[in-house]
Amino acid sequence: MNILSRNPLSTTIAVLSLSATILGIHANQATASLGGNATPPPTTIANSADGLCATPYTIKTGDTLSLIAKRSTGNIFDYVNIVRVTNDVAKSDKRFAPINNINVIRVGQMLCLAKAKAAPAWAYNGDAGPAKWGDLSSEFAACKTGQEQSPIDLSKANLRDISNISFNYQPSKINILNNGHTIQVNYDEGSYIVVDGKRYDLLQYHFHAPSEHSVNGKLADAEVHFVHKAADGTLAVVGVLLVQGPDNASLKTVWDNLPTTQGPVKTLTATTNAKELIPPSQTTYRYNGSLTIPPCSEGVKWHVMTQSMQISAAQIKAFTNLFPVSNRPIQPLFSRTLDLDSTP
Ligand SMILES: [Zn+2]
Repeated sequence: MNILSRNPLSTTIAVLSLSATILGIHANQATASLGGNATPPPTTIANSADGLCATPYTIKTGDTLSLIAKRSTGNIFDYVNIVRVTNDVAKSDKRFAPINNINVIRVGQMLCLAKAKAAPAWAYNGDAGPAKWGDLSSEFAACKTGQEQSPIDLSKANLRDISNISFNYQPSKINILNNGHTIQVNYDEGSYIVVDGKRYDLLQYHFHAPSEHSVNGKLADAEVHFVHKAADGTLAVVGVLLVQGPDNASLKTVWDNLPTTQGPVKTLTATTNAKELIPPSQTTYRYNGSLTIPPCSEGVKWHVMTQSMQISAAQIKAFTNLFPVSNRPIQPLFSRTLDLDSTP
């Protein structure tokens, strides 16, 4: 481990002075600027609704938290936000380790940078709806200018013999949250898929109603997204369409505990097994796409199962009572190819 610095601290002033010293400026200057109104107020968090870090940063030789904060927002004191945001995303994103001591950071460690400005509020309708996402923030530009956006209509696919996804899902505690846009269940470590020889760890699953992907122009009643991430940061999402039918027993425990208001993760004693939400037929549609929510980042490997699962009218209603609309409109395919597995 390459420890950049290790100094015990006991008071806030000591923390601030140390930060300034690390930066190579005199401690009194930092303390002085803190005393007036010159120091901007702490900035806010800009993470995606999926609980993923919008701006990951890998610590390099010579970095300190203060220096990184200064480069990121212009304010050395924003290191407190970097710590807060990193510790926050570390709960669901295993690439990040919690920072228990601000003086112990190492080269190669990943931070989630706080942004100078809060990510603007976005919605599924109105002035901050999907058609306006790209205009809400420069961070969301891909929502407007991207050429590989999701969701898409699943039609006119190229039939191709593709190797099946290998699902290695274990039961997990139900770590549930209402993030203001959907219900998300963060998954315990240890479950993953393998696609084309590459491992992607399951981070969380969440829901949309109606579905985001359509098949030959027709939306399903709902869709569940299993969000995975490889060690190199590549995201792979497995989508399963849900059509109205009998109660889906595998959703029962989650549905019995839907948080009605936006709030932090709540861990239940009950468990969930994502495997039960994956249809038996292993054929998939595959294409390169994006996050379906701002910042609409591209480079996401999409796998939508051809076989749908069921969800009851009552279950759909319980969800749409909380989120009346939660699907982004269909995006153009442009020059991408959509593959459809020709073999089970
Ligand atoms: Zn989604």
